[in-house]
Amino acid sequence: MQSFSTAKDAALTLRPDAPVYCFRPDVLAADAKAFVTAFPGETAYAVKTNGEPMVLETLAKAGISTFDVASPGEFAAVKAAKSDAEMLYMHPVKAQSDIRLALETYGIRVLSLDHEDEVAKILRIVRALDIDPGTVTLFVRIQTKGHAAYELSRKFGAAPAHAVELLQRCHKIGFKVGICFHVGSQIEDPDTYERALASADWVRNRADVPLAGLDVGGGFPAEYGHDPRRKKKEMPGFPEIMTRLNADIGEWGFGDMPLVAEPGRVIVARAFSLIVRVLLRKGRRLYINDGIWASLSDSWTGKITLPARFIPDPARVTRNGDPTKIGAFKVCGATCDSVDILSRPFWLPETVDTGDWIEIGHIGAYSLSLRTRFNGFYPDTFVEVASPFDAGDKAEGYASLETMAD
Ligand SMILES: *Cc1c(COP(=O)(O)O)cnc(C)c1O
Repeated sequence: MQSFSTAKDAALTLRPDAPVYCFRPDVLAADAKAFVTAFPGETAYAVKTNGEPMVLETLAKAGISTFDVASPGEFAAVKAAKSDAEMLYMHPVKAQSDIRLALETYGIRVLSLDHEDEVAKILRIVRALDIDPGTVTLFVRIQTKGHAAYELSRKFGAAPAHAVELLQRCHKIGFKVGICFHVGSQIEDPDTYERALASADWVRNRADVPLAGLDVGGGFPAEYGHDPRRKKKEMPGFPEIMTRLNADIGEWGFGDMPLVAEPGRVIVARAFSLIVRVLLRKGRRLYINDGIWASLSDSWTGKITLPARFIPDPARVTRNGDPTKIGAFKVCGATCDSVDILSRPFWLPETVDTGDWIEIGHIGAYSLSLRTRFNGFYPDTFVEVASPFDAGDKAEGYASLETMAD
């Protein structure tokens, strides 16, 4: 992989016509270590967020040894990056054959569930392989309510009384049991974890069985950009959220049991940016070489404002527009699909034009993993970049006037 000190260097050296991912292993390692330091239990990286080999290998080197996995593809990816990694199979609804593969081939001994038929599936394999249920931990996933950019509680999780019954059932069979939840991705309300902990406490008290652990899932918010026309949402930063979570864990009496967290986004978001090229400027519209079917699906939902930086092509000697003014441009993606238009504009200098590049920051989470081959476009070019993405400080999170000067 070629290395550059900044994404701008990469753009001006390579003059890429295809999207280029800028990977920042130092940022990834630092963000992983920051999480491990702030969380008082085991950190299990959620592989679905970004399962690229370079990510898993960098995390393993940074000291992450536990991974939250959900499929045979993820088992294999983790195994390839770190052969002795511990894997937690935290998908509540699993194929019977995948449960067998997990237990038999990958030695996985921690699984989650939210229904009694899943207990039956797991038990069938445990019996067939003659595994002692006492060596297997089953986490019962409970429903949570809260506000996250991506809500998942409508899809998975047992209602509290049902969770009580599941814990008792699994305990009676001889499995070790725990409680887990996943509040959704990119939480938007700092009370979210406390509400989930309150539910977990209710379930624990009613179930009255020994608990092997509590898994608080993911959802920890990453930093993104901010639309300058809107009032900035008051949301505490990562250190405050973790301080609060630690206090809540203590207050609800979970401080003395093994804890697990499954962060994804907060660990990997900053580790990648993407250099895209403006293929055509048509009025206030910019047609770029990436889009919602490739790296930018997260922005299509309208939930997340991606920070961007302008990298003007020095080869363009004449430009129209006021170089000191920043304006909103509608961004159209590379495919022929008419829905392939980003839901939010990019704020860029008025002089932006065909052939210029834009560096889109903080796209490490759910962008590489969600890209498709639709229409034959599949961005897959990587470079390593040493310095962190710099969103600038003018119009926060957007291309700033200062960038115009250089
Ligand atoms: C997706 C997922 C995560 C990671 O969520 P982030 O919001 O990226 O931290 C963790 N746990 C489970 C069960 C998940 O499905």
